[in-house]
Amino acid sequence: MDIGGLETVVANSAYVSARGSVDGAAAATMRDKKMRARLKLPHIRDCEHMKTKVDSTFDSMCVKQPIGKRLFQQYLESEATQKNAGQLWKDIEDYIVCQEKDRLQKAQKIVNKYYESKSKTFCSFLEEKAVTRVKEDHKNLHGDLFKESQQQLLKHLEKSALAGFKNSMYFLRYVQFKWLEGQPVDEDWFMDFRVLGKGGFGEVFACQAKATGKMYANKKLDKKRLKKRKGYDGAMVEKRILAKVHSRFIVTLAYAFQTKSELCLVMTIMNGGDLRYHMYNVDEKNPGFNEKRACYYTCQIICGLEHLHQHRIIYRDLKPENVLLDDAGHVRLSDLGLAVELPPGKDKTTGYAGTPGFMAPELLQKKEYDYCVDYFTLGVTLYEMIAAKGPFRIRGEKVENEEVARRIINDPVNYTPAFSKDCKDLCEGLMMKDAANRLGFKNNECAELKSQPFFKDINWGRLEAGMLPPPFVPDSRTVYAKNIDDVGAFSSIRGIVMDNKDNEFFTEFASGNIPIPWQEEMIETGVFGELNIWGENGKLPNDLDP
Ligand code: ADP
Ligand code: MG
Ligand code: MG
Repeated sequence: MDIGGLETVVANSAYVSARGSVDGAAAATMRDKKMRARLKLPHIRDCEHMKTKVDSTFDSMCVKQPIGKRLFQQYLESEATQKNAGQLWKDIEDYIVCQEKDRLQKAQKIVNKYYESKSKTFCSFLEEKAVTRVKEDHKNLHGDLFKESQQQLLKHLEKSALAGFKNSMYFLRYVQFKWLEGQPVDEDWFMDFRVLGKGGFGEVFACQAKATGKMYANKKLDKKRLKKRKGYDGAMVEKRILAKVHSRFIVTLAYAFQTKSELCLVMTIMNGGDLRYHMYNVDEKNPGFNEKRACYYTCQIICGLEHLHQHRIIYRDLKPENVLLDDAGHVRLSDLGLAVELPPGKDKTTGYAGTPGFMAPELLQKKEYDYCVDYFTLGVTLYEMIAAKGPFRIRGEKVENEEVARRIINDPVNYTPAFSKDCKDLCEGLMMKDAANRLGFKNNECAELKSQPFFKDINWGRLEAGMLPPPFVPDSRTVYAKNIDDVGAFSSIRGIVMDNKDNEFFTEFASGNIPIPWQEEMIETGVFGELNIWGENGKLPNDLDP
């Protein structure tokens, strides 16, 4: 073995063993004690001034932010008048993700407990119409049964519990966590493992947050290279979009910081390789996926797209290569460098962006377009998963981009016998040349798309909660990345000097911890539980005493 090969083996082994410790308890054993000790709640005196400044809108603090939600739910539990509502909330969430076989029983229990006026735990804030509907409907076993009730429940809590929460010690605890969340991060917080891949402006490394043991991917952007190749705008768009989206179907940004020479994006680590690799390089004699597997990935991709579109973001670069697998075999969308956000009031955009062979007709024709282009690329991606070739290219054929574009605009797609009728119908619905007829995002959701026959066996509630077992689990000892030598190095950049304006940009970019993922990390790795200690018999905790 040459030195490069040996280097890869050694790096892989360190990385594989760190990776084995990602979840919960095991992560604790990988922590750096000194760094962990730096995660300490401040005395309330030192953060009291933040009480009026922290994000305390109901939806953000009590629903979206994981630590805020936990503390709010602990508050509900502690209040006699809110206890039932808090419990109903948890029971509905449990219903949404339960298996079909348990649905009837769980629905029945919820109805008896909260919807019957003679029950001790009756929830009188639910509107009569919603109560009647749930009672009539609860034998139909659909995941959305309690959707309306949940909205009423949250409205009720906002009106009746938000003020009380903000006067409670649970809110002070929230403020303490927000203070900790706002502390600066730098490279000292992370330990790099091997390189995972190479991007346009730098390399992506596996890394570990030393204080908690959680593994991430660190995408490094070389400052000089960014400046020389005018990459500032693109980098900022990618960072802004990644920081805005929080979905288990899109890589999440947890930290943005800078070093002397680089800007760093610390994101969800996806250890399982990309879909392109799995389609073509795992079993070369039998490329592509069976329908069941293709269906599963398609569902997860749809959830990712739906989330982006709900946040007014067009992805534009969906393709197998950009869909990455995690340890369990779930997939997420990655590389949002070509994405674009529609400003309020504007529903269309223009611009040539994407990958040849995937781009939608209206985009190629330089017309205005919207989210529809992403459902065309979804159709191309699904087609390729089944056929193991793109729909507009013969296998192994070398064609000019112009010819591929011409085919996309004009030619019908041929389907091999590998496609079932449901799958072919779906591909056709997605690859409609006319965007107006295409399946996709309507009324702010993908409900119509999700109800297509191809998805008839999918329990979307469980899928969306990440609870449907994946069809394929990557091998935990395999490193689905190139050998270190093959990743390729960058040449050094000379003659670039930074000025104040550059440094201003770097500071704006390096905004630190991103609240939701940071809070998730604290909960997942057990640090939240270790810090969220209350005083004797549930009374005011010591550190809150005046
Ligand atoms: P660029 O936008 O510069 O092309 P990418 O985001 O595509 O950069 O990242 C470059 C490569 O790094 C990818 O092709 C992939 O191999 C690897 N990579 C990127 N993000 C992750 C991640 N979250 N987890 C694991 N590997 C990643
Ligand atoms: Mg890329
Ligand atoms: Mg990119």
